Amino acid sequence: MGFFGCHLSASGGNTAMVKTALSIGANTFAFFTRNPRGSKAKKEDAADSEKAVSMLQSEGFGKLVAHGAYTMNLCTADAEARQFAAEILEDDLRRMAALPGNFYNFHPGSHVGQGTEAGIYQIAAALKKALAPGYPVTVLLETMAGKGSEIGGRFEELRAILDAVGSKDVGVCLDTCHVYDAGYDIVNDLDGVLAEFDRIIGLDRLKALHLNDSKNPFASHKDRHECLGKGSLGIDTFRAVVNHPSLKDKPMILETPNELPGYQAEIALLRSLES
Ligand code: FE
Ligand code: FE
Ligand code: ZN
Repeated sequence: MGFFGCHLSASGGNTAMVKTALSIGANTFAFFTRNPRGSKAKKEDAADSEKAVSMLQSEGFGKLVAHGAYTMNLCTADAEARQFAAEILEDDLRRMAALPGNFYNFHPGSHVGQGTEAGIYQIAAALKKALAPGYPVTVLLETMAGKGSEIGGRFEELRAILDAVGSKDVGVCLDTCHVYDAGYDIVNDLDGVLAEFDRIIGLDRLKALHLNDSKNPFASHKDRHECLGKGSLGIDTFRAVVNHPSLKDKPMILETPNELPGYQAEIALLRSLES
């Protein structure tokens, strides 16, 4: 049985998220470590987190996939803003120690005209520093659609960040909408895309997936998520993904335009696709 879940609101605390996940048939989930479009983080509650950790274990959850704020751009051009983003990253990784052994995924960043090479260097520098304290969390870079000056739309760019960081403990989260929008044809050639991922990054680095259909056609570089089966990827793509031997054991997170009942229905749909 696969690990399926969706993004949940973190505002009620960690135990509340586990309970919500259970109520919609999820056995993993994602949450923003702070306001996704700002930087404010919730007050930490050790007792609540301890309870959540024991529930995650007793209920057999897969690894959680926390998500860094969209506003955290580690390669923004302004040095002060870049430093602020790096501090947010460090604080997020420290906070993840309350839920040890899970994943923290983030968008590598947009170089906003500085160039891909400079951006990769800045992202890697911030990551190296934030990883230094050795908190019990595995950091994941998300595959991006390649919109604007976004870094991470090409597997080679993610590889370059991993190389520059040097830590074997950094992985990748594959977003189905993003890779398709970026020009990796998982609709017609999932095996070919995974072979390329393996050649450039290594499948051992692939730790989690975001399952989203796309509102836009192949290679559009747009990044607009659609509900499963209602976009250009289609249900057969998700059937192939949830059953693929290289993918089926990974946590799979929905980021589709849904409220909880819609997520519950999509999780049930994903389970019905499993063979
Ligand atoms: Fe994301
Ligand atoms: Fe995503
Ligand atoms: Zn997206």
